[in-house]
Amino acid sequence: MAKRSLSSLSAEDLAGKLVLVRVDFNVPLDNDGNITDDTRIRAALPTIQHLLDRGSKLILAAHFGRPKGEVKESMRLTPVAERLSQLISKKVVKTDSCIGPDAKSKVSSMAEGDVVLLENLRFFAQEEKNDLEFSQELASLADIYVNDAFGAAHRAHASTEGVAKILSPSVAGYLMEKELKYLQGAVDQPKRPLAAIVGGSKVSSKIGVLESLIDKCDKVLIGGGMIFTFYKARGLNVGKSLVEEDKLELAKALEEKALKKGVELLLPSDVILADEFSADAISQIKSIDSIPDGWMGLDIGPNSIDSFQSALEDCQTIIWNGPMGVFEFEKFAKGTNAIAATLANLSTKGCCTIIGGGDSVAAVEKAGLANRMSHISTGGGASLELLEGKILPGVDALDDA
Ligand code: AMP
Repeated sequence: MAKRSLSSLSAEDLAGKLVLVRVDFNVPLDNDGNITDDTRIRAALPTIQHLLDRGSKLILAAHFGRPKGEVKESMRLTPVAERLSQLISKKVVKTDSCIGPDAKSKVSSMAEGDVVLLENLRFFAQEEKNDLEFSQELASLADIYVNDAFGAAHRAHASTEGVAKILSPSVAGYLMEKELKYLQGAVDQPKRPLAAIVGGSKVSSKIGVLESLIDKCDKVLIGGGMIFTFYKARGLNVGKSLVEEDKLELAKALEEKALKKGVELLLPSDVILADEFSADAISQIKSIDSIPDGWMGLDIGPNSIDSFQSALEDCQTIIWNGPMGVFEFEKFAKGTNAIAATLANLSTKGCCTIIGGGDSVAAVEKAGLANRMSHISTGGGASLELLEGKILPGVDALDDA
């Protein structure tokens, strides 16, 4: 079901109105409390700027870390308010608490075009419990609700679902709209052939997405640590590679499902083995049917890179979630980097390339190729759930288009 977007609200609808915008400002900090990557803040700027240009009074609501319902000084949104203020060249007033007298008084003294950032929502346990009274308190601050926090949309929390049901209109911000357009669009109405590349450490965390992608894609390419569960299920020796013994039957079933549906399920034909799990481990390339005991696979091999690249060549849409190997170690990042470069080249040729959140985003950024992809999702868990075909409560609660 398509959802109502911010663009459906006119300038008069927004002028002078108190607009509560749920944003995903859950950015990484270093040990000194400095923001190391402000991508998530910058991703919300189109929505923020749109509202400021129309003279709205902007109330931003965000969570930060996992304070578990308690005030944690290290999890205050102070550095976020400072960075946002620099990015929009405007004062950002932060409240001491997201609800209560301080929030109310700071909001009531706002003028058109002012920005208030509410303190960390998760200092209240009621946020994650989707508590009605807490939702009402948040809603009482504003006239209009905009959800731009795609990364939190898979959670039915007070600020994502609760408030959306109380305030009206309740619409998707520009980032949310873009995420839905690409991710939902890729699985619902893709330009074909549609390929998915799934990697990462475990089959268990990707079962849902693998099953649903086998239903929707023409090709599914698998890399990362999870390949060894597939090989073991085929009866191959995998040395001391990562294996989920309780997922062997599932791996078999997934291969059978793909075969039955005529979906090309591609597993690497060779791997890079390491003698131990470390950045400077001794390594060797082996085909997957000759992995010796005592070695562990930490990346896909050169022949696999070639065959993955040829399989992707004619694809019009590619979704990627999860690295091909332990890309954090330079020595085992070749497979992941090669896939990132392949996708960047295919984007140039008109293929729609979507990086579905989490570690693959980090890998693409590390490779300096982020700006060459069609879409980079800001939400790891949310993008996985959307690709699995699940309904995201934070999206579902918004007004229908
Ligand atoms: P995930 O969070 O499931 O997407 O997994 C990402 C993690 O998988 C990264 O930290 C990678 O280092 C790890 N990973 C990728 N390939 C392997 C492998 N062959 N063995 C162990 N871990 C891996």
